Amino acid sequence: MPKLYFGQTGLAETNGAQVHVRYSYGSIFHNLPCNMNFDGQVTTKLNNAIPLALQALNYVHDRFTGGHVLSDPEGKYSAERYFKIYELQEDHCWKIALVIKMMVAGLNTNRTVVKVFRGLKGHPTVNGYVTSRNINTPKKHRNHAIHHFTKKDGNPAWRPVNKGDVHMKVASIMRNCDYVNAVLFLHEASHKYASTADFGEKGYTVKNTGAYREGGLTTEQALINAESYGKFIMDYYIKQNSLNIAIW
Ligand SMILES: [Zn+2]
Repeated sequence: MPKLYFGQTGLAETNGAQVHVRYSYGSIFHNLPCNMNFDGQVTTKLNNAIPLALQALNYVHDRFTGGHVLSDPEGKYSAERYFKIYELQEDHCWKIALVIKMMVAGLNTNRTVVKVFRGLKGHPTVNGYVTSRNINTPKKHRNHAIHHFTKKDGNPAWRPVNKGDVHMKVASIMRNCDYVNAVLFLHEASHKYASTADFGEKGYTVKNTGAYREGGLTTEQALINAESYGKFIMDYYIKQNSLNIAIW
């Protein structure tokens, strides 16, 4: 049986991007009101993290559009750290910029819903996900028709697919600082709007240090790795602007 999600609260409207939150029955009891705030605790946390993520994404997008990345020390440093690019060149920038542009376009042209869930049976370590549905999904469920790059009869082609909403786990949101929640949101948004992938332990990062959990991720993989984009965007934004934000 599909999970039911309740309520709908606006989280952010930044540069045309609209993000809303909904809660599963299991997670709604974690969203109790704060002392000084009418919103629940989880909503309050997301109210900080999602605008932060959107600001970072828009900032990094503008740096690429303006051609500043090659001269930004933190652009080069973050590209080395998360994409394993040791000498950043223009063609690398094009590849990274393409994914970032798809994320911005997706967020600016859809109303993005963050669904907060309590847990996934059999997958205790999953902090977030985006489900993928095929085109045969009944029309009423087709919220987000987007295109997947694929090969048809040996030729590259764009195939329409439907992706589900961004899902984030309630325990992770409550435990994480805004920076880590922003990384998680951007990770899932990159899956949803830019069809990025996961590469298991070598593609996920350790929360405290930001290093990959296991070695071995290649540059080619990193350039389509969801986590690489989440971390790259947030680190580039925070360090280039010398923002004093807790990162764990
Ligand atoms: Zn992922």
